[in-house]
Amino acid sequence: MTDNPIQLVGLIGWPLEHSVSPAMHNAAFDALGLNWRYTLLPTPPGRVKAALTDLKAQGYRGANVTVPHKQVVMPHLDEITGAARDIGAVNTIVVQEGRLIGHNTDGDGFLAALREAGFAPAGRRALVLGAGGAARAVVYALAQAGCAVTIHNRTVQRAAQLAHHMQRIGVHAPVTWVPITATLAELNLARFDLLVNATPVGMWPHTDASPWPETLPLPSHWTVFDLVYNPAETQLLVQARAAGATAVCGLGMLVHQGALAFTRWTSHSPPIEVMRVAAENALKH
Ligand code: NAP
Repeated sequence: MTDNPIQLVGLIGWPLEHSVSPAMHNAAFDALGLNWRYTLLPTPPGRVKAALTDLKAQGYRGANVTVPHKQVVMPHLDEITGAARDIGAVNTIVVQEGRLIGHNTDGDGFLAALREAGFAPAGRRALVLGAGGAARAVVYALAQAGCAVTIHNRTVQRAAQLAHHMQRIGVHAPVTWVPITATLAELNLARFDLLVNATPVGMWPHTDASPWPETLPLPSHWTVFDLVYNPAETQLLVQARAAGATAVCGLGMLVHQGALAFTRWTSHSPPIEVMRVAAENALKH
C-alpha cells in the first residue's frame, strides 16, 4: 500500500447484496498495491440523482451502475461518451474535475470475452435472445465489429425497436429481428455462427430453465455465449456442450467489463486473472 489517501469507487444499483464486483475490484486494487476501495452504494428508485450528488460531494473517483439504473442515470450526467449514447445505457461513471462522465463497458467487455473464447465476430452471423439492457450492448458491439445480428425476443416489438435503433444510428453490419410469426424452430439455424443468451432465463435459482427448446438441436458449429454467470454452467451451456458446440459462460464478460472500468478510473492495466479468480470465488459463496 502507498501513503496516498484512499480513493473510492462504488456500485449504484438496487438491490445489490449479491454483487461480486466489490470482491473483483478490491482484489485488483490490492494486487496492484493501489489504495483504492470499491463500495456498494445501494440506491433505491427515486434516489439516483441524490446518489450522483453524493458521489461528487464525497469525492468518489467513479462508479459502476447496474440494474435498474443504467438508463435512469443518463440525464443526470455531465457528458456521455459515444458507445454509451449509442447503446442507450451507462454502466461506468468517471468523476473528472467535478464532472460526471458516463461510459458503457458492457459491449466491449462482451467482445473481449467472445474473442478470448476464440470467436472472431467480423463477417459472421449472430442470433441474440433478448432485447433488454444487456442485449442492447451486445447487439451494438457485435454489429460494430462487423457481425450481422438477428434479435429474437419474447416481446417482438422490443426486438423490432432495438433493430430499428441500431439501423438508425448506422452500425457497421445489418441488424434484424424475428417477426412474431416465426419460432426458433422455423429459423434457418445453419446460417448462424453464434448464439447469445441475453435473457435471465437459466439464472439462479431457476437453474433448470433454458431459453433454448430442449427438443431443438443446437448446431455443432455454433459458439453459444450465455450472459448468465450464476451458475457458471447453465442448462443452455449443458445443451451446447452436448451438441458439440463451443460453450461460453458470462463470467468472462463480467470480468472484462469490470477490467475496462478499472482502467478508466485508475489508468492502470487491470490484473485480469486476479479479477477472474476473485469473481469466481465470490460466486461460490
Ligand atoms: P433486462 O433489461 O430485464 O432484459 C431481459 C430480457 O430478457 C428482455 O428482453 C426480456 O424479454 C427477456 N426475458 C426475461 N424473462 C424472460 C423469460 N422468462 N422468457 C423469455 N425472455 C425473457 O435484463 P438485462 O439487464 O438485459 O440482463 C439480462 C441477463 O444478462 C441477466 O441474466 C443479467 O444477469 C445478464 N447480464 C450479464 C452480464 C455479464 O457481465 N455477464 C452483464 C449484463 C447482464 P421482454 O422484452 O419480453 O420482457
